[in-house]
Order: sequence, then C-alpha cells, then structure tokens
Amino acid sequence: MNDKAPPYLDMSALGMLGTVLVADEDEAYLAELEKLGQQRMVRVITARSLEEALERARGQWLDGALLHVHLGGPEGGFAAAARLRGEPGLQGLPLAFFSADTSFVHRVAAAHAGASLYLPRPFSALEFTEAVERMVAARRPERSRVLVVDDNENTLRALCHIVAADGVEVVGLSNPYRLVEALSEHRPDLLLLDVEMPGPSGFDLCRIVRAIPEWQQLPVLFITSRMEVEFRLEAFQAGADDYLTKPVLREELLARMHSRLERGRLARDRSERDALTGMLLRRAFLEGLRTRLAESKRRQEPVAVCFLDLDHFKRVNDTYGHLAGDRVLSRLGLLLLSRFRREDVRGRWGGEEFVLALPATTAERARDILARSARELEGVEFEGDQGQRFHITFSAGIAEAPRDGVDVEALLRAADERVYRAKAAGRNRIEL
Ligand code: GH3
Ligand code: MG
Ligand code: MG
Ligand code: MG
Repeated sequence: MNDKAPPYLDMSALGMLGTVLVADEDEAYLAELEKLGQQRMVRVITARSLEEALERARGQWLDGALLHVHLGGPEGGFAAAARLRGEPGLQGLPLAFFSADTSFVHRVAAAHAGASLYLPRPFSALEFTEAVERMVAARRPERSRVLVVDDNENTLRALCHIVAADGVEVVGLSNPYRLVEALSEHRPDLLLLDVEMPGPSGFDLCRIVRAIPEWQQLPVLFITSRMEVEFRLEAFQAGADDYLTKPVLREELLARMHSRLERGRLARDRSERDALTGMLLRRAFLEGLRTRLAESKRRQEPVAVCFLDLDHFKRVNDTYGHLAGDRVLSRLGLLLLSRFRREDVRGRWGGEEFVLALPATTAERARDILARSARELEGVEFEGDQGQRFHITFSAGIAEAPRDGVDVEALLRAADERVYRAKAAGRNRIEL
C-alpha cells in the first residue's frame, strides 16, 4: 500500500449527510425543501400531516425531524413530536421546530417537546444544513459502527457498500497493521475480518483484538473463502463469533451483522439504564453530566442541573400498593425520556428521585421547561391496586453552572438543598 494513501476508507464521506423528516402542510414549501435537500446531500422525507409523518417514520432510519409548530392546526407540531417519539426506537429522535412565530412561549414549549433547535419559517439553506448536521451528530452515538478489514481494496469497497446503510457507519481498512489504531480511533461495535491476508492473518488479528481487555466483547465476524472443518474450528479458537464464506451473500451478511449489533446494544442498555424507568443509572448519568459540564465550560454556556423528588411517595405505596408506585416511576421515566432534547442527560438518582442536566440552559429557563413536565404528570390519572384513582406531583430544585458551582458535587448539593426548600414550602414546587 502507498504510504501517502489515507489509511482508512471512510464511507460516510462518500454518502449522504443524513436523512430527515420534514412535516409541513404546504406542498410548495415541501417541494422547495426536497430540492434544497438534493443540493445539500440530505435525504428529505416529506409529510403533510401527523399521520403521514408517523407512516414515513416507521421502518426507516431518521437522523431527525423538522416539524412546523402549527402542523395541521395551532401547535399541532408539539403533539406530532410527542407521537413520533412514542414510536419504537424514536424515543430520542432529534427534533427541530420551525415557525414564523418565534415567541418566547413557543420556544419553551418547543424545548419541552424535545427540540434542540427552533428555526424561522422559511429557513435559509444554511440554517437547514446546520440543523441537519446537528441532528446527525446528536444521533451518531445511536448509529452502529462497523470496521471492515480486507487487504484487497476492491473487496473492501464492495463489503463497505453492502454494510453501509442509514444507521450504520462503516470504516474500511486495507492495512491490517493499523487495526489496533483503527479500533481506538473509530470505536466500532462490530469487526468484519478477512482471513487470508499477507502478513498477519485474520486469525492473528482476532487473537490480538481478544488480548486487549477493552475489546474482548467486540463481535468479530470472519469472511473467508475456505470451508474445511479444521479451518472453521480455528476461527472459533481465535475468538470469532461467526464466519461467512465468500462469495458473501448480501442478505446473509446483513442479517448476521444486525443480530450481533442488536444484542450488543441490549447489553449496553442493561448496564447503563434502570430497567423500571429506562433512565440512566447514577454512574452513567454522572458521566454524562461531567461531559456536558466540560463542553459547556468551553463554550461558556450555562448548564441547569435539576433534582426531582416525588411528593409523598411513601404514602402512594402505602395507600395504592407498591405496584402502583412502580407504575408511577415508570410513567415519569417515560415522560422525562420522551420530552426534552437529545443533549439533555436524564437519570434515576435512586428510589423516587430523578436528575436532569440541561446544557445551554439557565435555571430560569429550566424551571419553565420542567414546569411543563410537572403539569403533564399532574394530568396523568393513575390506578391503585384496588382500582382507586389518584394523581401525583413532584418537587424540584435547580442549580445552574457556573453560577452555583462548577463541579458535579457542588451543583447536585445546591439542587438538592432547593428540593428541601420546595418540600418545606408545601411541595409541588420548583425552587431555584
Ligand atoms: P416527600 O414528599 O417528603 O419526598 O415524601 P416521600 O414519601 O416521597 O419520601 P420518603 O423518602 O419518605 O419515601 C420515599 C419512598 O419511595 C419510600 C420507598 O418505599 C419508595 N420507593 C423507593 N424506590 C421505590 C421503587 O422502586 N418502587 C416503589 N414502588 N417505591 C419506591
Ligand atoms: Mg484477502
Ligand atoms: Mg426522596
Ligand atoms: Mg419523595
């Protein structure tokens, strides 16, 4: 291989920027946006109504959705956002709203409905491209990354084209000596390895990968032209999870790959998320909070840190039963996960306590947003174990970085003290 050639073949550079859904009732405006998408290498899926948006969103990867605030009626876009995020796999879909009306009230409602961006209508080509770029970046952690290693550039290219799809980022590597480097640079979720290569064989590479503690769990699929039983045994001895024989059948490769990727995703969720509420566990939340604090410090933006505590929850358990209590926790988790923006970190601190970190948000703005969650929760009617009906509220305290502190401990302490103040002042309140 030529020394000057780039070591990686990055397929994302060859394809589209991303896929977004745009919902607006104006046909002519949608047609304009489709054209804009073509110019900007963005696949634009259009919808004229909520129903059409839901239909389009099903069964295809979306990097985000841009919704008209008044889709199909005043503030219809907010309801559409809630419905979209209620679809399987779309709970964290990046959202943007656009409207000719850019009033403060609408901006708060949009932030609560989950929008990271609020654009004017009509928006410019630049605003559109920036919005799509931000959505793609926000959704990147949810995409799967596959690293393909094959010494033959043509085979490599062909394999990359099979694997690359919406939702899957693929990086091709033709120089097997750079595998360890490529792993740390691209952090793949799956490795596709050619077996017959000059220098280290695929088996050798797999043994090397398995010797690195961090990559012991990485799914490895071999691709080989040999089929003898000794050869297949050696593949598993080297630490392979699966193998395919050349010529590779496209559908088979995709099926095997996706089932491995899906299992990996489930395992990761189990270790990071609380099963009852779906919220991040304390450790993962703290990690997310630290990252947000560091980013926001660089950008000189505030971060709002909120502590939520359900009111009289012990009484709920005592009166309506522990299972009813669990239903409340699960419902609040769903509410907090399906509202808010992608970049907002949300965790279950423990018991009936939840924590949120909202970057680029002041405490005052966070209060307005959180007040909407409070009203929404209050509006939910729960059922006790004997069929009794009841409602529930929470109290919250909000601290703001850097005003109230710059480290995690100081911020959480400040927010927690304010929860106590909210409780003392009668509960169902938010204190700053
Ligand atoms: P306050 O308004 O002052 O916060 O009163 P509270 O009753 O909510 O507070 P307290 O800390 O006294 O009680 C919290 C209760 O939360 C006690 C505990 O049994 C309940 N709890 C904690 N985790 C769970 C859970 O996973 N499921 C259920 N059903 N209850 C839980
Ligand atoms: Mg080869
Ligand atoms: Mg408590
Ligand atoms: Mg409580």
